[in-house]
Amino acid sequence: MPTSAADGDTSRPMLSVANIETYYGPILAIRGVSFTVPRGEFVTILGANGAGKSTILKTITGLVDLQKGTVHFEGTPIHNRNPDAVARMGISLVPEGREVFPFLSVLDNLKMGAYTRRDPDGVAADIEQVFEYFPSLRKASRRAAMSLSGGEQQMLAIGRALMARPRMMLLDEPSLGLSPRLVGEIFSILTRINAERGVTLLVVEQNASIALKSARIGHVLEMGRIVMSDTTEALMQKEDVKEFYLGLKDSGVRGTRRWKRRKTWR
Ligand code: ATP
Repeated sequence: MPTSAADGDTSRPMLSVANIETYYGPILAIRGVSFTVPRGEFVTILGANGAGKSTILKTITGLVDLQKGTVHFEGTPIHNRNPDAVARMGISLVPEGREVFPFLSVLDNLKMGAYTRRDPDGVAADIEQVFEYFPSLRKASRRAAMSLSGGEQQMLAIGRALMARPRMMLLDEPSLGLSPRLVGEIFSILTRINAERGVTLLVVEQNASIALKSARIGHVLEMGRIVMSDTTEALMQKEDVKEFYLGLKDSGVRGTRRWKRRKTWR
């Protein structure tokens, strides 16, 4: 799998999300969210249940339409395009809950990820690369995806997204439902994919601990708004992040929900 090529202009962000608002019927899920993802970066968006993390990824990939704002990928507007067109531009989504094809084998799931490609040798080499990242998938290559464990299905979903040779991958809570050991394994492979392949990563997570350790830039999302943005190193030092996302201060988290009353974050 070759390293992703830059499109020439290294000064502008790879992805720019500007002031987006997305509704589900009358419900405003995303309230004027803006952020950028520089090329080659590993960026995370942290947020609790219902904060709007999935909606941001669905808006970027065209699965839901935005009502306000813009999304640009490598300078090209992509808001409200259809998901297939967005995928063909080089953005792969690994959806929440994995969503592999349950009745297809592991191998066929990977081949499905390469459906737009016409280079069988390249596809074969990339399958080999996915098996190198995730050796348990090689052992299970002929098995139906539904027979895999949750961790293996997450690996398969990531592998399938890689088969499209994306320049950017969006991942929706890859840690969901997995043991701490598997979460660690999956994030260490994500770190390799970013460092070795140059694939730009945007990962939305509730698991702040692993996301802050793995990514370099982070945003905190509360009720559809970004309330904090910084390097992950700096975010980890902030009292509110320690208290509410890393659970380092038990007292005060339950019961008072002080963050709900706060207007500003430190
Ligand atoms: P989770 O971790 O639970 O998936 P999230 O941060 O990804 O949370 P979203 O799924 O983006 O949050 O949801 C943001 C808000 O939009 C929530 O209030 C949610 O209830 C609402 N919402 C999400 N999907 C729909 C839908 N299909 N119809 C109506 N409201 C929705």
